[in-house]
Amino acid sequence: MTMAGRRPLVAGNWKMNGLRSSIGVVETVRKDLPKDLLDRVDVLICPPSTLISSCVAAVYGSPIAIGGQNLHAKPSGAFTGSISAEMLADLGAKYVIVGHSERRAYHHETDDGVHAKALGARRAGLCGIICVGETKEEREEGRTLDIVRAQLAIGVPKGATGADTVIAYEPVWAIGTGLTPTPADIAEVHASLREMLGQLIGPEAAKVRILYGGSVKPGNARDLMAVDNVDGALVGGASLVAEDFIGIANAYAR
Ligand code: PEP
Repeated sequence: MTMAGRRPLVAGNWKMNGLRSSIGVVETVRKDLPKDLLDRVDVLICPPSTLISSCVAAVYGSPIAIGGQNLHAKPSGAFTGSISAEMLADLGAKYVIVGHSERRAYHHETDDGVHAKALGARRAGLCGIICVGETKEEREEGRTLDIVRAQLAIGVPKGATGADTVIAYEPVWAIGTGLTPTPADIAEVHASLREMLGQLIGPEAAKVRILYGGSVKPGNARDLMAVDNVDGALVGGASLVAEDFIGIANAYAR
C-alpha cells in the first residue's frame, strides 16, 4: 500500500507492438513476478486488442489483469474498425486506457471524447485509466497545472470512484524520450490533480489512484514511487521487456 492506503497499480502499455509470439512476455511476467508481490500490487498489461484474448488465457488463474488501450464510447453500432468497452470486457479485459496522449495527438481525441469513453468503460464494468499531461511548450509556458486540471475536470465523469477510475499523469514530452520531470515537479502535479479530483468527486478522490507515466524504467521506478501521491506507473517501452517490467513492479511492492 502507499502511505495513503492506496494499492499501487503497475500498468504496461504495449502500444502497437506485439505479435502472437509476444505472449511469451506475459508468460514470463507471470512466471517470474514474485508471488507475494501480487498480494500488494495490482499488475496490468494492455496489449494490442488482437492479443487480449490470448493474454487473458496466459494469465488465467493469476491476479495479473489484462486491459485495452482504447475503446469506442458506444456499446455497438456502425463504427467500422472500432471496439467497445463491452467487447473488451467480453474478452476478459478489466481495464482500458482512455485518452492516451498518442490518441489525443494522432486521432484528435478531445476531453469531451475522453469523458464519453470513460462513461463507456464504466458502463461495461471496466476501470478507465484516464490519461492527462502537458506538452513541452505548455510546460515551458508555465501552463502545466492549468492544462492537466482542465483535462481532468472535463474527462472525469460525475460519480467516478476509486474502483472504476485511475488517473495517469503522463507529460507528453516524457513519453518515450528518456526524460522525466523532477520528483518535485511530479509531486506538484499529482497534489494538484488530487485536489481537483476532490472538487469533482468529493472524499472518493482519496481512493482514486494517480499513476505517473513517461520513461519509467527499473532504474528510476523506486524514486518515482517515493513521490507523494504517486500510486503506481503507466509504463510504455519498458513493459515490452519482461525483466524490465518486473523490475518496475518490484519497486512498487515495498
Ligand atoms: C506511455 O506510452 O504510456 C508511456 C509512458 O511510454 P514510455 O514508458 O515508453 O515513456
